[in-house]
Amino acid sequence: MSIAENIAQVRASIAAAAREAGRAPSEITLVGASKMNDAAACREAIAAGIDALGENRVQEMTAKLEENAYDGAPLHFIGHLQRNKVKQVVGKVSLIQSAGSLELLEEIEKTAGKLDIVQDILLEVNIGREEAKSGFLPEALLSGAETALEKPHIRVLGVMTIPPADADREANLQYFDKVRALFIDMSEKLFHNKLQVLSMGMSGDYEDAVRAGATMVRVGTAIFGSRHYT
Ligand SMILES: *Cc1c(COP(=O)(O)O)cnc(C)c1O
Repeated sequence: MSIAENIAQVRASIAAAAREAGRAPSEITLVGASKMNDAAACREAIAAGIDALGENRVQEMTAKLEENAYDGAPLHFIGHLQRNKVKQVVGKVSLIQSAGSLELLEEIEKTAGKLDIVQDILLEVNIGREEAKSGFLPEALLSGAETALEKPHIRVLGVMTIPPADADREANLQYFDKVRALFIDMSEKLFHNKLQVLSMGMSGDYEDAVRAGATMVRVGTAIFGSRHYT
């Protein structure tokens, strides 16, 4: 199957899941997670109408930016972001999905301020409380959002999460429900119910995520094929 065929297939599945949940398919943004796929693959996905591409390694993204791999589609940063790499990301991407600590918010604010821009972000929530994962713990999300709101060069569009990889389907659904509840609570309390983006769901679970209220899914393997780590 080609990338274009895969995208069509994923779109159809998203549409079916959305309708099941009484939602319009157009509410869901499809982000292609293009890590380890080259510039040609990115261009193919853009030509096939992907809504955005997401990268999770700064070095790879920088190299592909130089090849104009993302021309014609918004670029998101979706991976773990180290403080010392913030300068290479702020202003280069339309959305940083993985703002997951107060230190990172501070660094993003500083860098965006110097560039005199407002950087759109999502607050990442570490819903599985995993030691090795970044993101705000659920109970720290609201105060993280309050901190972000005080920063003039940051705009919060919503929340992103990656549930534990080893969760079974039932546990995964519970994580999605919890994150949706946090998202709604945060939107109500701090954003006049105006928050738009709930980013959750990957190749293995994006239909469940859509049924659980996701407005953005990040799909890699189901679009680009399996990645070969060398
Ligand atoms: C790679 C990646 C995805 C997509 O994973 P697949 O299982 O290949 O769909 C989604 N989100 C993030 C943050 C990723 O790094």
